[in-house]
Amino acid sequence: MRVLVTGGAGFIGSHLCERLLREGHEVLCLDNFFTGSKDNIRHLLDNRHFELLRHDVTQPILLEIDRIFNLACPASPIHYQYNPVKTIKTNVLGAIHMLGLAKRVKARILQASTSEVYGDPLTHPQSEDYWGNVNPIGLRSCYDEGKRVAETLMMDYHRQNGVDIRIIRIFNTYGPRMALNDGRVVSNFIVQALRGEDITVYGDGSQTRSFCYVDDLIDGMLRFMECGSGTGPLNLGNPAETSILEFATRIIDLTGSTSKIVYKPLPSDDPRQRQPDITRAKSLLGWEPRTGLEIGLKKTIEYFSDVLAKEG
Ligand code: NAD
Ligand code: UDP
Repeated sequence: MRVLVTGGAGFIGSHLCERLLREGHEVLCLDNFFTGSKDNIRHLLDNRHFELLRHDVTQPILLEIDRIFNLACPASPIHYQYNPVKTIKTNVLGAIHMLGLAKRVKARILQASTSEVYGDPLTHPQSEDYWGNVNPIGLRSCYDEGKRVAETLMMDYHRQNGVDIRIIRIFNTYGPRMALNDGRVVSNFIVQALRGEDITVYGDGSQTRSFCYVDDLIDGMLRFMECGSGTGPLNLGNPAETSILEFATRIIDLTGSTSKIVYKPLPSDDPRQRQPDITRAKSLLGWEPRTGLEIGLKKTIEYFSDVLAKEG
């Protein structure tokens, strides 16, 4: 099949392109390189089944394709808050353009949504039928509300035009090729630990997250895309929950670092707790994450060690 991956030069997108090529597909990787990098896909450039398009999803495009994975959007709070108007345009116009394309060429489209649609959740763990607790005017809303509108557009194109859709809600995912400077907790803590710098815990560190290794996520995405039924939304994530303070200690142990933990103010609207209920993904796809935190973190630490060593 000819598969379009928007945001294909980013962290998750580059792993997805790699897997799709391995499975024998033609891959069109579309990216504007805002947070993605050619380094993430350099090893794919010589593959004759791989094509790179520099394009911004806020502009329309016409391509002949069978599948669309719509991932284009900065994912880390620092990056999506850098130009919030652009973030919301990327989510909303990007979804409109990709859905228009899907409708025209009769492609199936999967939208990368997020656990952020649950906001600061009032139920725990979060299942797909929870409607969320999102601040519509806060600093995170360009991303959260942008993704919520993208989900709405997906459902409306499906109901109104019969577009074949899949919506996934991705919970915190980590692994090699996360950007060094993207401010997310996994990259921050590992890089700080490897450099022997202070580990910056925001707030008192009692807030929780549940971290999924990227290979497990890709597995779930591919299974859902090719699943015969179901539009979603579908949670994809690892239910193993940890507090951010425990997570900092874990990174210090795994890196053998001498770094100390320091406390910094909690950013506004930072969700208190987050854990996916993956009952639906288990029953629909027979999917659940297989990579434990320790193994996933070791691979990620190895990646960042190499990157830092190359930087000198
Ligand atoms: P990332 O920032 O590494 O990748 C996003 C990619 O999209 C980058 O390559 C970037 O250059 C590209 N991009 C941004 N704006 C664009 C535009 N207007 N036109 C074309 N390309 C554009 O982030 P990621 O972690 O790989 O996230 C990928 C997707 O998964 C995003 O949609 C994100 O919202 C979603 N997601 C990720 C996580 C996570 O934990 N990583 C969690 C929930 C949802
Ligand atoms: N966080 C932290 N120190 C950091 C970066 C993040 O304590 O250096 C916290 C952040 O406040 C949040 C959690 O770690 O509670 C996860 O943050 P991230 O930006 O990775 O993802 P998100 O908040 O979008 O889940």
